[in-house]
Amino acid sequence: QKPQPSDAAIAHSFTPKTIGRLAREVGLFSEEVEPYGTTRAKVRLEALNRLKTQPNGKYLVVTGITPTPLGEGTTTTTLGLAQALGAHLHVNSFACVRQPSRGSNFGVKGGAVGGGYCQVIPMEEVSLHLTSDIQAVMAANSLVVDTINARVLCESTQSDKALFDWLVPLRDGHRKFSLSQLNRLKRLGIEKPETLKPEDIYRFIRLDIDPETKTLSGYVASEMMAVLALSTSLGDMTRRLARMVVAYSRKGKPVTTEDLGISGVLATLMRDAVKPSLMQTMEGTPVFVHTCPLSDIAQGNSSILADQIALKLVGPEGFVVTEAEGGAELGMEKFFDIKCRSSGLHPDVVVMVASVPALKMHGGGPAVTAGSAMPKEYSAENLTLLENGCNHLKRQLENARAFGLPVVVAINTFSTDTDAELGLVCEQAKLAGALEVVPCSHWAEGGAGAVALGQAVQRAAETPHQMNFLYDLEGLGNLPICMAKTHLSLSHDPERKGVPTGFTLPIRDIHANLGAGFLYPLVGTASVPPQSPAFSCFHDNDFSTESK
Ligand code: ADP
Ligand code: MG
Repeated sequence: QKPQPSDAAIAHSFTPKTIGRLAREVGLFSEEVEPYGTTRAKVRLEALNRLKTQPNGKYLVVTGITPTPLGEGTTTTTLGLAQALGAHLHVNSFACVRQPSRGSNFGVKGGAVGGGYCQVIPMEEVSLHLTSDIQAVMAANSLVVDTINARVLCESTQSDKALFDWLVPLRDGHRKFSLSQLNRLKRLGIEKPETLKPEDIYRFIRLDIDPETKTLSGYVASEMMAVLALSTSLGDMTRRLARMVVAYSRKGKPVTTEDLGISGVLATLMRDAVKPSLMQTMEGTPVFVHTCPLSDIAQGNSSILADQIALKLVGPEGFVVTEAEGGAELGMEKFFDIKCRSSGLHPDVVVMVASVPALKMHGGGPAVTAGSAMPKEYSAENLTLLENGCNHLKRQLENARAFGLPVVVAINTFSTDTDAELGLVCEQAKLAGALEVVPCSHWAEGGAGAVALGQAVQRAAETPHQMNFLYDLEGLGNLPICMAKTHLSLSHDPERKGVPTGFTLPIRDIHANLGAGFLYPLVGTASVPPQSPAFSCFHDNDFSTESK
């Protein structure tokens, strides 16, 4: 069997249709579309207003087992399912995915959104620089920090400090302070200089990010990004931005962006970023790529507005497939309890993605290290490890079923899977309450490989169901909870695969993100930065030489 070409090579073998044609096909008016080059466009929120009386399509959320370095393929399956529905089963479909943050562009997972024959194209546009949303978030964060710095400096020269009795900067969001800046802050008495250690720097300026990791790209990890993804209109975004607490006064009073007098300009900076970006899969079906809050430290889902517009555009017979990042206990739980609470939308079906190699790792299979050969456990049949790993799948199925919706399991098949292995996963998932279990080959065959999954989902969407949240909001400051925990384990310890039991979940602190609108417990010591290979998938590629 010939090995499949690389994701980049496959992506470049497809030619996208023009964005104008795609926009017409999905029912957008030309005045609702702001083209960005010839294969991307921002969609204006006026479209949502025009379609507000149109009934919504069916709403599918794709989640997975706990991620491993072997790849489960949640994004690949999200796109494969949308391709199957739209290009093979001939119903309207829309996929909604997160924009890749720079971490994953250059990380172990490659650069594309999706993989194999299920990707968003042009892949270098979606991966390297989609539109300027991330840059808008960076600029907004910079504005906050610069305003705070200016006020701090101003205070230091004022004899009457009553007026300017700010500020201990709470968040930086994107940058480390240089030593000279730090010394200046020390001189200003922001913290007792003699007690300020270098490791306190993060605690001091960037408390919304896990202080232990020190490596996350703060603009993606900032509350600003979480706000963007949870806003339901321009007005809603403006109000959320105004509520954001960005510093504390010396007397301990929270200082919001509104107090600083910059909430209006922040909204102006972000008013284009709030519009979802339209692109396409390799099979020409539409995709919204919008926002990138991380799943371990924020809600881990693409934007509400993208889902809302897509649900109107597909119409009552159509399907919107949206991805929740990370495992079911993390991104999916936040999808329901945070995103759906804000949007008021109720999904119809949960699709749970699992793969045989990843389940084997959860069953006790050896760790894989970048650059060394794949251990044979993952390339040859091993029913013992797999059966063990199915306990993890069962646990995540329990988590998924807790919301009251039908759950369809998609097994994202790898070329090394055997019939006995696939049979075992099907049997175990059925026992654990999956409505249907479907092995799929979309990574190798595109949408054609996920037609059976599409049909299973169509059937599941017709079953009667009643969605429920996991907890109500009374007693919690009326805010939902966003656990900031590792995505690599059901526990707080990324090393514990499978079904960890008998542990106490350590909560280091609880913060409130009042703009995004959630309480934010810091679980364990650290969230883990993505593993980076020596060479990204962009190594030695110069896309600029290709004519477009
Ligand atoms: P996730 O969303 O779960 O993080 P992705 O869908 O982004 O995972 O896929 C991660 C990587 O795994 C991609 O590079 C993709 O090409 C690869 N991949 C996905 N499915 C398969 C498969 N069935 N066989 C081999 N590689 C796959
Ligand atoms: Mg993904």
